[in-house]
Amino acid sequence: KKRDPHEKEFHQAVKEILFSLVPVFAKHPKYMEGGILERLVEPERIITFRVPWVDDHGKVKVNRGFRVQFNGAIGPYKGGIRFHPSVNASIIKFLGFEQIFKNSLTGQPIGGGKGGSDFDPKGKSDGEIMRFTQSFMTELFNYIGPDTDVPAGDIGVGAREIGYMFGQYKRMVGSYHAGVLTGKGIGYGGSLARKEATGYGTVYFVQEMLQDKGLSFEGKTVVVSGSGNVSIYAMKKAIQLGAKVIACSDSNGYVYCKNGINLHTVKRLKEVERKRIREYVKEHPHAEYHEGCTGIWAIPCDIALPCATQNEIDENAAKLLVVNGVIAIGEGANMPSTLEAIDVFLNNRVLFGPAKAANAGGVAVSSLEMAQNSMRISWSFEEVDAKLHQIMTNIYRNSVNAANEYGHPGNLVVGANIAGFLKVADAMMAHGIV
Ligand code: NDP
Repeated sequence: KKRDPHEKEFHQAVKEILFSLVPVFAKHPKYMEGGILERLVEPERIITFRVPWVDDHGKVKVNRGFRVQFNGAIGPYKGGIRFHPSVNASIIKFLGFEQIFKNSLTGQPIGGGKGGSDFDPKGKSDGEIMRFTQSFMTELFNYIGPDTDVPAGDIGVGAREIGYMFGQYKRMVGSYHAGVLTGKGIGYGGSLARKEATGYGTVYFVQEMLQDKGLSFEGKTVVVSGSGNVSIYAMKKAIQLGAKVIACSDSNGYVYCKNGINLHTVKRLKEVERKRIREYVKEHPHAEYHEGCTGIWAIPCDIALPCATQNEIDENAAKLLVVNGVIAIGEGANMPSTLEAIDVFLNNRVLFGPAKAANAGGVAVSSLEMAQNSMRISWSFEEVDAKLHQIMTNIYRNSVNAANEYGHPGNLVVGANIAGFLKVADAMMAHGIV
């Protein structure tokens, strides 16, 4: 806190981890030695750079680019690129820090990193997006590579942006390294099921939590925040498993339809036409649209899947969900619940799937994309989906086991944090003080 007093999101992420690790230090004091914690919270490297670009009116614009290479103990740095006006060092550091433990949990050999820019893609033309993205990559390419650091998408960075970044990387290095980015188009090295992976994985994780209690998605009402990559495929899988998704949102507002949201309309509006979610009610007049995105948590539901952004569920929203009878939460977004909200869920015995575990499916399939690129083969959708499902089941089991072993049965926040930490800490100890 002394070193970076204003980085509140980063402090929040660190606080959650450190509290979870108390039983580990009590049982195995060796993890308190060798400066493991001090080294873990200090990124190996942070790169900050100028991103100049020219808009459609010939005006020069300047944004700030970031890449944090947080921890490479178990593999090349891996983590998405976010384009959103709120991006700053604190947000990129919290995301990079969480990524260390998440990537470890997947069982894949990948370290933790994250990047992005305070560029706002909303309302920009294709040409502007391309010029910005090319400028971003013109600097970033110095620091990444298939064995060094492998970025992917995140908020504001989807297939289009990854395509432009890949094109510029290829142009800068002068040779074809498919494995330098993940989330690529299927025709040039992308993996089937990567687009679906985070949303599907979140639902697979919640399915495991429910199954342990003899429950399922069948007939349940589900509220999903956001309407981007993670949300759309969380909705799709929940519907496939027999649930009714009654609400989703964007940063302007939310739509509610008690008979169930029509996912085809949401997909077309968001993936093809890039429109606002308020347009939904023009085609479905029986649905309601409400301005503001926090009201979505006042809708009674059985399962809530926050899939938009950090801190979207605060203590009050959590209390409302509990009063309205929610039985399970699956965090599709990164750190969508505040620390106070998490306490409300845990104290009320709501099944709680924390982000590091529940949304790890995206990066897990990114790692499978890297594997396919290295082998120069591509697996079928069914093969990748089956591997994803197995990885999510393993993450759930490992988190449950760690929670039991360290005296917090049922607390998957503690379980996931400990399971993710141990592997990274052991690798750091094996490598000596570096
Ligand atoms: P997208 O850009 O595809 O979608 C983000 C959605 O969340 C949009 O509907 C967006 O609305 C909404 N949103 C973004 N910022 C805010 C905000 N400040 N307030 C309210 N709503 C907001 O991103 P993704 O779906 O890829 O990412 C969503 C979350 O999932 C993020 O937390 C991300 O870090 C996390 N995640 C993503 C993974 C992936 O594979 N993509 C992997 C693991 C985690 P609007 O269009 O109005 O901005």
